Amino acid sequence: MEFNIALLKGDGIGPEIVDSAVKVLEKTGQKFNHTFYFKDYLIGGIAFDMTGEPLPVETIQGCLASDSVLLGAVGGYKWDNLSGDKRPEKALLGIRSALGLYTNLRPAPLYPALRSASPLKDEIIGDGFDIMIVRELTGGIYFGERGYREGKYGTEAFDTEAYSVMEIERIGRTAFECAMKRNKKLTSIDKANVLESSRLWRKTMHQLAEKYPEVEYSDLLVDNAAMQLVRNPRQFDVIVTSNMFGDILSDEASQITGSIGMLASASLGDTSRGMYEPIHGSAPDIAGQNKANPIATILSASMMLRYSFDLSEEADCIEKAVDKVLNAGYRTADIMGNTDGTPLTCTEMTEKVLEAL
Ligand code: NAD
Repeated sequence: MEFNIALLKGDGIGPEIVDSAVKVLEKTGQKFNHTFYFKDYLIGGIAFDMTGEPLPVETIQGCLASDSVLLGAVGGYKWDNLSGDKRPEKALLGIRSALGLYTNLRPAPLYPALRSASPLKDEIIGDGFDIMIVRELTGGIYFGERGYREGKYGTEAFDTEAYSVMEIERIGRTAFECAMKRNKKLTSIDKANVLESSRLWRKTMHQLAEKYPEVEYSDLLVDNAAMQLVRNPRQFDVIVTSNMFGDILSDEASQITGSIGMLASASLGDTSRGMYEPIHGSAPDIAGQNKANPIATILSASMMLRYSFDLSEEADCIEKAVDKVLNAGYRTADIMGNTDGTPLTCTEMTEKVLEAL
């Protein structure tokens, strides 16, 4: 088969890690007789430097014309003081919205080989955990009305959290379907004791739950969820939550697995075209030093094969190659934990995955 993939390498470590994932996709293509055509488009700080816009129109058009999109990361110190609409991060919201990607799947499994990289105690980790976070991606406070106004204490800034029944239902359905394919357990996280939008979220989720009697459903307040994730992560299977809560909790979930450099994500909408990206940022502190862990991006490419191209066998093959490399003891600096030895560079880790493939 043939597939066109738009590459949005972005800033910081973005180009290094996307190049790694491209090599892995090419090798997988050779092995299974598929051809992947790659085309680069600008996004983020580099796009701003070259065109004056963090998300040029050509990038949106190129992504819309592709079968799927692989993104590195955007942002960096250089662009931190730009106005809100020119900031690299604004491009992320823009591209997700332009491609109609309202679901973000963020698997957070603990790799047995990386137990020692997790900050949690052994007795909490037990026999391990495997959480799937389903985050709403194009609604809520990141997209709500915002601005400045005169308030009780002078000038104030405001942002608005708003969710419609339609938005909650469609992310809820995705989460219930996801739970049906896993351990049939779903936790919906909100702040219904305070927020009206959360009360509508909870009511809508309860209505959906009636249609999925096989799924063990529960609600949890976000503050409690933040505690439970570190107290007993094994209680979770699938988590569904809003855009902002999902953003924060998925970073927490990534930390308890051992490294943010390991976790992939898929952003999906109503078509087979998705956008796949590591959950970490552009890591400007290690950019250009060949120190980045490429595994999150390699696993994002594998999610692309699974969710956009329906190539499960090929995706399994990449995931097994990563497992094999980790089980053999190879580590980049971020996942060394208490392990002795010299960490691999980004290119060395990529080579190890290619060999295992
Ligand atoms: P970050 O995820 O970039 O980095 C946090 C820490 O994790 C750093 O110490 C970094 O070195 C390390 N790290 C991240 N990815 C790694 C990898 N693959 N291998 C090894 N170590 C890794 O988060 P930050 O420092 O808060 O943000 C840096 C920039 O990235 C900011 O401009 C931020 O806005 C942006 N950002 C972009 C995205 C995205 O593009 N999707 C997401 C989050 C943050």
